[in-house]
Amino acid sequence: MSISTFFKSLIDDFIYTIFPSLCLMCNEDQPVKDGILCFHCLSSLPLTDHFEIRENDALEHFEGRIQISQAASLLYFQKDSDIQNLLHNLKYKGQDSIGTFFGQRIAEKMEKSPYFVNPDVIVPIPIHTKKERIRGYNQSTLIANGISDVLKIPVVDDVLIKSTNTGSQTSLHRSERVKNVTNSFEILDQSAFSGRHILLVDDVLTTGATLEVAAQQLLTCNPSKISVVTLAIAR
Ligand SMILES: [Zn+2]
Repeated sequence: MSISTFFKSLIDDFIYTIFPSLCLMCNEDQPVKDGILCFHCLSSLPLTDHFEIRENDALEHFEGRIQISQAASLLYFQKDSDIQNLLHNLKYKGQDSIGTFFGQRIAEKMEKSPYFVNPDVIVPIPIHTKKERIRGYNQSTLIANGISDVLKIPVVDDVLIKSTNTGSQTSLHRSERVKNVTNSFEILDQSAFSGRHILLVDDVLTTGATLEVAAQQLLTCNPSKISVVTLAIAR
């Protein structure tokens, strides 16, 4: 072994020890891009066509319920899939880089979309401060930050807040979810979004109940319009 090869392998070993290349989607030990996904997972992401189609199944969740200008999710989500694993790693395993990474991918899709107009402000769906303290972050804020990196639009995460801790919604139906989250959001500054186009951001679109209730609160601020993006949509 030459000295340069020796040092190279030493550096590789060192980097590997500091940054183990575990794919955050399939959890396999593979070479990963940007410390996130292996080549296989990156090339087989279940992408939606929402950014190319105006009347898509994300927007459908809100039709007849609330005025949402445009909606899109980046990925399809199924139970017991690798995407569920990815979202679990984002939400509960401290893998915050997943949020920023996919936020950036959402923004790239928005830039190419004929239907998405750049918003004035990005608002993540808040979680209760107690939950955020335990988790260390709000996963929707991470996604919003990734979008902001690319579009250079500010994230405002201190006006719409979650004032009641509503607990898990997973076992509830849509109407129960709406009931459960109604009045759980609060606006701290009514003038903050007046006349502005808000992009509301969440991690997963399941029934749309949380986004609907949050958007209802935001409408009391008289924004010019509200658009919605999420990292994934359940099907
Ligand atoms: Zn993988």
